[in-house]
Formats: sequence, C-alpha cells, structure tokens
Amino acid sequence: MIEMQDVSKKYPNGIIAVNALDILINQGEFVYVVGPSGAGKTTFIKMMYREEKPTSGKIIVNGVDLAKLKNREVPYLRRNVGVVFQDFKLLPTLTVFENVAFALEVIEQSPKEIKRRVMEVLALVGLKHKVRMLPSELSGGEQQRVSIARSIVNKPKVIIADEPTGNLDPETSWEIMNLLEEINLQGTTVIMATHNREIVNTIKHRVVAIENGIIVRDEQQGEYGYEG
Ligand code: ATP
Repeated sequence: MIEMQDVSKKYPNGIIAVNALDILINQGEFVYVVGPSGAGKTTFIKMMYREEKPTSGKIIVNGVDLAKLKNREVPYLRRNVGVVFQDFKLLPTLTVFENVAFALEVIEQSPKEIKRRVMEVLALVGLKHKVRMLPSELSGGEQQRVSIARSIVNKPKVIIADEPTGNLDPETSWEIMNLLEEINLQGTTVIMATHNREIVNTIKHRVVAIENGIIVRDEQQGEYGYEG
C-alpha cells in the first residue's frame, strides 16, 4: 500500500527531518506514528500525500511511484489518500455539506452523485442533521467529524491523520477514535500521528516510533512509552 525506500527529507534550512527511512505499510493496517516533538512525524506522513517531496529515496503509494507523479496528477493521488488534520482545516464560509462536497467536486463528479455520496458519509459520521451549518456553529468534535467525512468521501484506500485528536477533549477524542476504527474495519488503511499515549496503549495497533527522523521502533500492538 505504502512503501518508502531509503527516504530522506532535508529542508532548505539544513534540518534533516527524515533520515534514510524504510517502511512498508499494508492495505488494511492501522499504524500509529509516535515520537517526541520535532521527531519528523509530520514530515514523514506529509511525504505520503505529496505535501512534501523527499530529497532522496523512493515512495510508492497504492502502486504509484510519487517521483513520477506530475503535479496535475496529484488530485488523483489525493483521491486514494484522505487527509485529516489536528485543526480540521475546514473552509469557514462553506456549510458542512459544501465542505465535504468540495472534495468530490475537484474530481468532477455529477451533482446527483455528489449529493448521494456526501449525505452517505455525513450519515456515517452522525452529522446528517447539521448539513446546512457553518464550521463555526459546530463543536470541535463535530468539526473533526466533518473533516473525516471529507477525507473518506472519495472512498480512499488510506487515511492519513496528523494528530486528529490533538484539539479535542478526552471524551470527544474517543468518539473520533471509534470512527477511525470503524473506517479501518471496513478495509481502509489508517496512518495516524499522535502524542496521545492513552489512546495508543488502549486501542492496540502497530506502533512506529520516530526519533530524529529515524524509525527507532516498529511493533505490532506496541505500547507508547515515549517521553515527548
Ligand atoms: P510535532 O510532534 O511537534 O508535530 P513532528 O515529529 O511532526 O513534530 P516535524 O514537524 O516533521 O516533526 O519536524 C521535524 C523537523 O523538521 C523539526 O526539526 C522541524 O523544525 C523541521 N521542519 C519541519 N517543517 C519544516 C519546514 N517546512 N522547513 C524547515 N524545517 C522544518
């Protein structure tokens, strides 16, 4: 599903955020990416959806070698890769419906198909009754639900989530985790960077620990015992 071979990322300021990293993530896996602040987690996952390009090495996502991907082909990559952020990144002037529909519109779906699919995913995240509201009228947890609906609207093979519970209270964090679990159980790969030890140690999955741009641990059902 996702393969990185000898991947490094050096930013223009000289910082080597990811250093000769190798990893293989199979379809259907749920992978936590943990490690101290500044370890390289965000850089590592940004390279999977071509938000950052590696300085060297090879990245294959869903059979596509990202080095060979032209800029105009990036939307097609994003169709198979849903992204969820800590701060939701919803468009403030668009309604819940429009925020989710926007992802479909960029790949030129018909209005009928957009409506059917958007309502389907909003029902899945429990927000069918709030379709006409603006993000500012929703709680943090509800906004994250909209962002998850947006990430799955194209039925991606993988969801990449960068600290999806970082801005949420504990109870809401568990609700969001349950939703990601449900999506994973339906076959979608989930890759989630997190600092939340309680979640990692309770809902057991593969744990990839990064420090100084290097994978220092990669364990199925591992514990998150890191200081950071
Ligand atoms: P956190 O848990 O705090 O989000 P992280 O593990 O996700 O951290 P990254 O955001 O990937 O870490 O950062 C890794 C290193 O790369 C840090 O030293 C950071 O300062 C540096 N870095 C990140 N983004 C950039 C950038 N756009 N330009 C230059 N340096 C960057």
